[in-house]
Amino acid sequence: MCADEKLIDGKAFARRLRHDLHEQAVALHARTGVVPTLAVVMVGEDPASAVYVRNKVRATEQAGMRSVAHHLPGDTSEAELLALIATLNADPSVHGILVQLPVPQQIRRDAVLDAISPEKDVDGFHIVNAGRLAVGRRDGFIPCTPLGCLMLIKSVRPDLAGQQAVVIGCSNIVGRPMARLLQQEGCTVTMTHLRTRDVAAEARRADILIVAAGRAGLVRGDWVKPGAIVIDVGINRVDTPAGARIVGDVAFDEVFPHVGAITPVPGGVGPMTIACLLQNTLQAARKAAAAT
Ligand code: NAD
Repeated sequence: MCADEKLIDGKAFARRLRHDLHEQAVALHARTGVVPTLAVVMVGEDPASAVYVRNKVRATEQAGMRSVAHHLPGDTSEAELLALIATLNADPSVHGILVQLPVPQQIRRDAVLDAISPEKDVDGFHIVNAGRLAVGRRDGFIPCTPLGCLMLIKSVRPDLAGQQAVVIGCSNIVGRPMARLLQQEGCTVTMTHLRTRDVAAEARRADILIVAAGRAGLVRGDWVKPGAIVIDVGINRVDTPAGARIVGDVAFDEVFPHVGAITPVPGGVGPMTIACLLQNTLQAARKAAAAT
C-alpha cells in the first residue's frame, strides 16, 4: 500500500458529503417548500468562536440551506439567552438551533443545552438525544464530531463487528458518544481517560483507535497495533520555530508507519464536523416537513 492510501482524506469526504446534502436540500425544497434552516447563536466576542460561527454560516448557505445568525453581547444574561432559545424553539421556520460554546460565565452551559428543543438540537448535546444514543435508539441527533469519525472509519472498514475499539478521552461531545456509536456497530469498546492506569497498553490492543484528549503528540509510535485505524480528533496549537501550527493528539510521523489508515490534522476529522452539522440540520428539516 502506498503512503497516500493510508491517509483518510476527511476534506475530500466532507466535500462529497456536502455536495450530496446540497442536492438533498434542493430536492426537499422542491418537494415540500421547506428550506432547511439553522439558527446559530453566539454570545460574546471570543475570536475562535467567531471563526467557527462564520464557517458554519457559510457552509450552511453553500449547502443550499438557510442560516440565521444571532450575535448577542458578552454581558447577555442567562434569562435573555433562554428567551431567545424559546423564541427559536417556537419558530416553525427554524429547524436546527446551535449555541456556540463556550458561553460566558454568567450563563450556565447546561441550562442552555437543556433549553434547546431536542427536535432542533442539531449538535446532539441535549440529554434526550444523549439518552437516545445511550439506549441504542436511532431517532435522535448524534453529535457531529463522533458522527463524522464513524463515517471516516467506515469508509475504510465498512464492517466493524467484533473489532476492538479504544477511545482516548471521554467528553460528552466526542469520546462518550463515539464509544456508544462504535458499540452499536458491534465493536468491543474500551474508554480511557486521565485516570486510566496505562493508556498506552489499552491503545496497543486497538483495531480502531480514536484519540480525543486535547494533548499534542500523546499517542506515540509504540502505542499502535500494526494495521490499526487511527482517528485523530485533537486540535492543538503549538509554537514551532517556523511559526504556530495546528497538530493533533497523535505523533503522526512516529505512528504513520504502523497504521492501516489514519486521519491527518488538519484535513481529517475537522472538515467532517461541519458537514455532519449540515446533515443533522437536513434531518431536522425533513422531520419537520413530514410532521406538517
Ligand atoms: P475535553 O477536554 O472535554 O476532554 C478531554 C478528555 O481527554 C477527558 O476525558 C480527559 O480525561 C481525557 N484526557 C486528557 N488527557 C489525557 C491523557 N493524557 N490520557 C488519557 N486521557 C486524557 O476535550 P474535548 O472537547 O473532547 O476535545 C478533545 C480534543 O478534540 C481537543 O483537542 C479538541 O480541540 C478536539 N476537538 C476537535 C473537534 C473537531 O471537529 N476536529 C471537535 C471537538 C473537539
